[in-house]
Formats: sequence, C-alpha cells, structure tokens
Amino acid sequence: MSARILAGKEFAAQLKAEAAQRVKALQDKYGVTPGLAVVLVGDDPASQVYVRNKDRACAEVGIHAERINLPADTPLEELLAVIDRLNADASIHGILVQLPLPAQIAAHEGEVINRISPDKDVDGFHPVSVGRLVTGESGLLPCTPAGCLRMLELAGIPVDGKRAVVVGRSNIVGKPMAMLLLRKNATVTICHSHTQDLASITREADILVAAIGKPNFITADMVKPGATVIDVGINRIAPKKLVGDVDFAAVSEVAGAITPVPGGVGLLTVAMLMENVVQAAEQQLAAK
Ligand code: NDP
Repeated sequence: MSARILAGKEFAAQLKAEAAQRVKALQDKYGVTPGLAVVLVGDDPASQVYVRNKDRACAEVGIHAERINLPADTPLEELLAVIDRLNADASIHGILVQLPLPAQIAAHEGEVINRISPDKDVDGFHPVSVGRLVTGESGLLPCTPAGCLRMLELAGIPVDGKRAVVVGRSNIVGKPMAMLLLRKNATVTICHSHTQDLASITREADILVAAIGKPNFITADMVKPGATVIDVGINRIAPKKLVGDVDFAAVSEVAGAITPVPGGVGLLTVAMLMENVVQAAEQQLAAK
C-alpha cells in the first residue's frame, strides 16, 4: 500500500486564497490593510529564511509586512520598547518576535512573549492565547498545530472519535496540537522522552503527529496500517538535506496518508500565520 501524500503546497494555497479574500473584505469595509510586524533580533540564518518566507506570504495575501531588524546585542529593554510601540500602533494587527532570541536575551523569552498584546499575538504563544486554547474560547492559535488541523479538515480526514497520538510536548507544537485534537473530539495521548514502550502507543493511533526533532525517528513498525501521519519535524542532516521525524519512505508504505518533509506542515505554518493576522485585524477593527 502506498499512502496518500498530503502536499502542504496545495492546502497552503487554499488557506492563503481564503486569507486574501478576507483581506479584500477588510479593505472594502474599513479601508484598512491588515499589518504584520516581524521583529528579528540578530542574524540567525534559519530565522532569516523563515522571516523571508513570511514576507513573501504577506505579499501574496496582500498583508502589509513591516520588518524590524535589530542587532544581536540589542538589550532586553530596547526589544520590549519596540514591542510596546507596535502594541500601540493601530496599523499593526499582528506582532511576531522571531525565535530563538540571541543568547544574551534568550533567558527572557517568556517576558518578551508576554509583552505582546494578546490581541496581536499571531504566534499564539502568549499565556492568554494558551488559556483561550485550553478553555475553548476563540483566540489566536499557534500556527503549526493549527495549520496541521486545518490540513486534516481540508483533506477530509475525520478527527472526531479517532485515536490521536502526539509525540512531543513542547509549548509551541506538541501541547497545543494535543489540545486542538481534543477540541475536535479525538481521544488524545501525548508521548515524550519518558514514555515507556512508545511503539505500542503510536501503533494505536489513527492520527499520529510527530514533533520530536529527531531525524527518521518514527519507523514503519510504529505505525498502524492506514493511519494518518503528520510529520512536524524539520531536521537538517546535510547542508542541503532536510528530513522529518518520520522515516518517510518506509512509513508511506504502511500509512493511509502522510505529510512529506520538506513540502508538508512547514508551508501550512506560514499560511496559518496569514490567517491569524487577518483574524486579529478583523477582531481589532470590529471592536473599534
Ligand atoms: P522540542 O525540542 O521543544 O520538543 C521535542 C519533544 O520531543 C519533547 O517534548 C521531547 O520530550 C520529545 N522527545 C525527544 N526525544 C524523544 C524520544 N526519544 N521519545 C519520545 N519523545 C521524545 O521541539 P519542538 O516541539 O519545538 O519541535 C519539534 C520538531 O518540529 C523540530 O524538528 C522542529 O524543527 C520542528 N518544527 C517545525 C515547525 C514547522 O513549521 N513545520 C514549527 C516548529 C517546530 P521531553 O519533553 O520529555 O524532552
């Protein structure tokens, strides 16, 4: 059996087309273009690639993108002052501070995220956003897990009542992914590095999400035949070679559907960010 390949490009294009329509509707109704500010501290090469992809997506969707590049030695107070200015700027509806932060302020990541107004928190990392996710209130959702869920919806893969297993419990992927699947009525198990007999748990999954950060960690014997496998991992194993957390070649012979890396979840993450900026703008403009 060969799995259906869930190509991120196709689903991301759908999400971006929807977002573009909503941008147009906001321009028609309010005469306002949604604005995203991306703050990049330092010159981490991977972050620069991510930020460029975000700029490109904004241009495609019609979102105004403002890039703020700060030197790597920017003091914390200065970064917080930039965030305060953006919080108060009515032309900016979404604020994103690209992570990771440089070493000298990395320990203050929580403080930096908490400084962003929850209404403009398009990364969905602020504790208020996390709280809304857990209680089921409407709010801005973390882009990667929300993108995965939107992809399942668009692909017509049912979640309600299914067994879902998420491997990884980070605040940005694993935990919110599990919470979103729970909200959609899946029966969810979260696994992590202390989980015993991991394979026996992953083999029960109708939907298996891998967010581990270890190349080719999920092997074919860990997957139930016909399962949907979502590979969030991005691992660089050679200068020009990226692989996921799932052994794609072998697992695609067992799974019913699978996301490739590259070309899978990563594209959905950026598309979901666009959706979040539009949602934030809609809410801020409606509240005026
Ligand atoms: P973290 O390193 O924060 O979390 C990894 C998780 O995997 C931890 O919860 C850890 O468990 C768990 N883990 C590690 N080893 C094992 C093991 N042997 N068995 C079971 N669980 C294990 O990573 P992130 O969540 O930030 O990212 C995960 C992957 O997703 C990375 O490759 C990252 O690059 C990628 N990513 C991709 C995005 C995209 O847009 N596609 C966006 C964000 C991330 P424990 O908690 O016990 O340590």
